Amino acid sequence: MALVRDKDGKRLHVKSRLMGESLVSKEFIAQLNIAPQERLYPDVAVVKIGGQSICDRGVQVLPGILKEIVANRNKHKMLIVTGGGTRSRHIYTIGLEMGMPTGIIARFGSMVSEQNALMIAVLLSPWGGIKISHSDIVKLPTYFAEGIIPVMHGMPPYDYFAIKPAKGRIPVHRTDSGLIILADLIGSRRVLFVKDENGLYTDDPKKNPDAEFIPKIGARDLMERDQDDLVIERPCLEIMQNSEVIEEVQIINGMVPGNITKALAGEHVGTIIFKQK
Ligand code: ADP
Ligand code: MG
Repeated sequence: MALVRDKDGKRLHVKSRLMGESLVSKEFIAQLNIAPQERLYPDVAVVKIGGQSICDRGVQVLPGILKEIVANRNKHKMLIVTGGGTRSRHIYTIGLEMGMPTGIIARFGSMVSEQNALMIAVLLSPWGGIKISHSDIVKLPTYFAEGIIPVMHGMPPYDYFAIKPAKGRIPVHRTDSGLIILADLIGSRRVLFVKDENGLYTDDPKKNPDAEFIPKIGARDLMERDQDDLVIERPCLEIMQNSEVIEEVQIINGMVPGNITKALAGEHVGTIIFKQK
């Protein structure tokens, strides 16, 4: 690329379409021709083990889930991602009472989700479980070549820079959003949320016995429904709808033996949320 001087002769630029642009102009961004996004590791399934929904159930549920993951490790490349759960909610409550800003609350969330990642990695260590950091994502091919099951905490690393939402100070991008962002980054074709309900309902089934099950729905349609409560964090829907590579995600009930295996194989056993054209 050629180096060019500004008209006033002061700044040295690399000649490109972005030269001299603020990168803010809507018109400019809309007409910019870019290459389609590469799928870095499309064959890696990203699997979030819920914090509150799964990890907090401890010995009653985790051994069965881990057993199923181990049973699938020769067939599927899986990157395990962990949620936070009740301990996050505990420290969020105290932090919010004490006036902590959003960035501190987000940092608390990262620390708790990391505890779960450490535990799951240690529990999986006889079968190649290794706790990895976010910066290790680009080493995934090496891990799978060695038969490793990588385990990572799910909070996106905004931490102190987490943006305050319109209301309150609980960061909106937590571990569900972390999984979706990760799926977009690596171009994963299999995105699974392992939770404790059969999937998405019209309302929280734990609070409303009349809530109806939704087996399949488009991300945009679900955003437009503007439901009061959801089974995954709200920002997931927009991130997914904007993604060039995510086609669908599935929320499954990890308490039902066999569901993880079936979902890894592409079967529809929970709720599928898909990106709409
Ligand atoms: P995780 O620990 O995996 O992050 P959460 O407990 O944060 O899971 O979220 C899952 C829970 O969301 C479910 O167990 C359910 O009680 C609740 N929930 C709220 N709204 C819905 C809904 N519309 N459909 C299904 N579950 C919902
Ligand atoms: Mg959650």
